[in-house]
Amino acid sequence: MAQQYVYFFGNGTAEGDATNKALLGGKGAGLAEMTQLGIPVPPGFTVTTEACVHYSKTGNYPEKMQEQMQVALSKLETSLGKKLGDIANPLLVSVRSGARVSMPGMMDTVLNLGLNSETVVGLAKASGNERFAYDSYRRFIQMFGDVVLGVPHHKFEHYLSAMKKSRNVAIDTDLGADDFKELVEQFLALVAKETGKPFPQNPADQLMLAITAVFGSWDNQRAKTYRRINKISDDWGTAVNVQAMVFGNMGDDSGTGVAFTRDPSTGEKIFFGEFLINAQGEDVVAGIRTPEPIARLKDVMPVVFEQLEAVYQKLEKHYRDIQDIEFTVERGKLFMLQTRTGKRTAKAAVKIAHDMVLEGLIDKKTAVLRVLPEQLDQLLHPMIDPKEVYTSIAKGLPASPGAAVGKVVFNAEDAEEWVTRGEKVILVRNETSPDDIGGMHVAEGILTATGGMTSHAAVVARGMGKCCVAGCGALDINEREKFFIAGGVTIKEGDFITINGTTGEVVVGSVTLVSPEFSGEFAILLDWSDEFRTLGVRANADTPEDARVAREFGAEGIGLCRTEHMFFDGDRIDAVREMILASNESDRRKALAKVKPYQKEDFLGLFREMAGLPVTIRLLDPPLHEFLPHTDEDVQKVAQASGLHFDQLKRKVSELHEFNPMLGHRGCRLGITYPEVYEMQVYAIIEAACELKKEGIDVQPEIMIPLIGHVRELEILREMTVRVCDEVINRSGVTLKYLVGTMIELPRAALTANEVATQAEFFSFGTNDLTQTTLGISRDDAGRFLPDYVHQGIYKEDPFVSIDVAGVGQLVEMGVVRGRSTRPDLKTGICGEHGGDPASINFCHKIGLNYVSCSPYRVPIARLSAAHAALKS
Ligand code: PEP
Ligand code: MG
Repeated sequence: MAQQYVYFFGNGTAEGDATNKALLGGKGAGLAEMTQLGIPVPPGFTVTTEACVHYSKTGNYPEKMQEQMQVALSKLETSLGKKLGDIANPLLVSVRSGARVSMPGMMDTVLNLGLNSETVVGLAKASGNERFAYDSYRRFIQMFGDVVLGVPHHKFEHYLSAMKKSRNVAIDTDLGADDFKELVEQFLALVAKETGKPFPQNPADQLMLAITAVFGSWDNQRAKTYRRINKISDDWGTAVNVQAMVFGNMGDDSGTGVAFTRDPSTGEKIFFGEFLINAQGEDVVAGIRTPEPIARLKDVMPVVFEQLEAVYQKLEKHYRDIQDIEFTVERGKLFMLQTRTGKRTAKAAVKIAHDMVLEGLIDKKTAVLRVLPEQLDQLLHPMIDPKEVYTSIAKGLPASPGAAVGKVVFNAEDAEEWVTRGEKVILVRNETSPDDIGGMHVAEGILTATGGMTSHAAVVARGMGKCCVAGCGALDINEREKFFIAGGVTIKEGDFITINGTTGEVVVGSVTLVSPEFSGEFAILLDWSDEFRTLGVRANADTPEDARVAREFGAEGIGLCRTEHMFFDGDRIDAVREMILASNESDRRKALAKVKPYQKEDFLGLFREMAGLPVTIRLLDPPLHEFLPHTDEDVQKVAQASGLHFDQLKRKVSELHEFNPMLGHRGCRLGITYPEVYEMQVYAIIEAACELKKEGIDVQPEIMIPLIGHVRELEILREMTVRVCDEVINRSGVTLKYLVGTMIELPRAALTANEVATQAEFFSFGTNDLTQTTLGISRDDAGRFLPDYVHQGIYKEDPFVSIDVAGVGQLVEMGVVRGRSTRPDLKTGICGEHGGDPASINFCHKIGLNYVSCSPYRVPIARLSAAHAALKS
């Protein structure tokens, strides 16, 4: 039997269902499923994604596709008693794209297909509504002209605007049948002039041309960009849905709308959406007329509203998730045109997942899996500091929450260019279109003048987790001359503004932003995550303040305290410089004695904050030159403090210069050549711990030696560490457990992990350095060329962000296995940036690490990622 490329749906039965998303696309699968559920859906058929893939590869339709379409079309015609191209009673169809995952506005759609200069007359008669028929025809010529024939949209709009001006009306609905007739003639002439051929009049040709165009739109630039940003495979293709038209533009008893079964911004359980009376679908999304809130439908069409409520509730119960629906009302009759899983903000995702568990719709496991760790970043996004007093110059719709500060730019290209230069920008547009996707991606936030909560800008921004204020009618934007006026203020390109996507406010200048609080639902969801995860989550924190944040976010300890930060603070840098520049051990010890009280103070604060939890403290790591005095003034200061001569010191500074500091005298190599430095740190750590222990505070110090490459290095430094610790503990008369371990940051350490483990009670993989040293790519210089590597797909992701599993990952895994072969109870963790990256966390779970450690604000992401990893394995 020939492969099936066409699936029919209608009259209560369908050949496909919700399980066929890959083949029928999200829209096609949804239409089939709704049909099977007995929900009113106009009949039609879906041409599969496989047909698109075949076309995209070969430039031809697959064999039998057209025959199968013919059969489906006949079935459709029979079921409605209308025929495509029939002059008396024409069937009109919509042709819409629909990929496996929704790509809003990225691909093409044609409505009202089947109209020509004869069938339009038939439609006018059959409907008894001439205005409607010519309105539909002019829409069709414009859409088909734009999408299929490549005549730019704005050229049609030009005629439409001129017509409205000449008739002295503001909106399309005020135009009459004769106006549209005239417009149709103008449009037809425009197409003929632009393409050199008359507008195709044969509906069968129209249909094939439209299907081909939708197939082709899979490979248009904006769709490709969208796929790259959203990591969607280029190989999936789009399905094409051909469906009988129902008309929302038949008068005031008709209309069209878009709605969500819950609020996609906040997650609140309210029916949320918008509609337009006497309009077709594209009017709502295009943001040309500002739609009305869905609740108003209850007043204007109470019966339809009641039906719609029943349908949306049925759909949500059926899918057990928030649905994004499209509907049309034709002369008082309701039709559903789409249902799909609703895109939602992180805030809404958390609330919906939480609420649905309480409502008994889903279990905790499903709830945890419903929230994407990557998405949580949004919740941890900045908000305007509540203490800030500011006045807004305009207020639009709060389309996507969070706040953003940046310089104003007026088009997507400028946005991309400015961001490349290192600027932060807010993209300000009358309304965004799918062509703006690149600019939206790089902008801090998006501000538009027209369009509602379901406009392109709003939908896309929410999906990106980007702050957005939409439909801000008070803005008078001059995109060409690059300024806007609002509330009497003129804002030019490059001026700073702040937008608040949670309230819709637009503010002049940059307002202070703060990180948000944990919501109750968020905390509960993370508690549920904790029930499933097996991987521990710690934080990288150097100060008591960071430690407090980390603890509040649920960190189970500190996985990395970098002590070098402690050396820079305030006055201590002078003592540190004195120590580095000392020419002998005794001078060095003198200087170290000045640093030690500061160090001890730091550790006391940190241990107090983390009482009852482990705290891993890493001994000094960075190359010494980082601490060196740069200016003569600084050298002079050290000269005074140390009693050394200025010239002598200058010479010492230049002696310490390194050609390759990242591979130079850093990490444990400092401890080997200047043991007194590490010794001072160990004293400070363990004395602080003993003092607190005496106060009855539970302290769990873990002392970590960085950049080990050879077991002997660790052996020497471990001996010193244990000697100092035991001495202090004995002297204090307390019992205190402490661990000594190492970072694994060099390939040699991973390769010889069985030896290294003889001297280490724990390993913490420093994947920042391990990536640098394994790939031979400098962490500091990678920015210049690594983006090209990612762009060309050499590395799929930046290996400094997401672990290079095949290379670095292999070393980590090997390190764990070999380390445990020597010491079965070896504790293992990771503390490079990868510790907060969901894909890397998944990897860490798989290879059986004990914990990940990440920045405090990523702790929630890590908890959820770890739960996902456990639930998916
Ligand atoms: C690492 O190398 O992964 C690490 C955590 O240490 P640092 O980033 O301080 O070099
Ligand atoms: Mg390191």
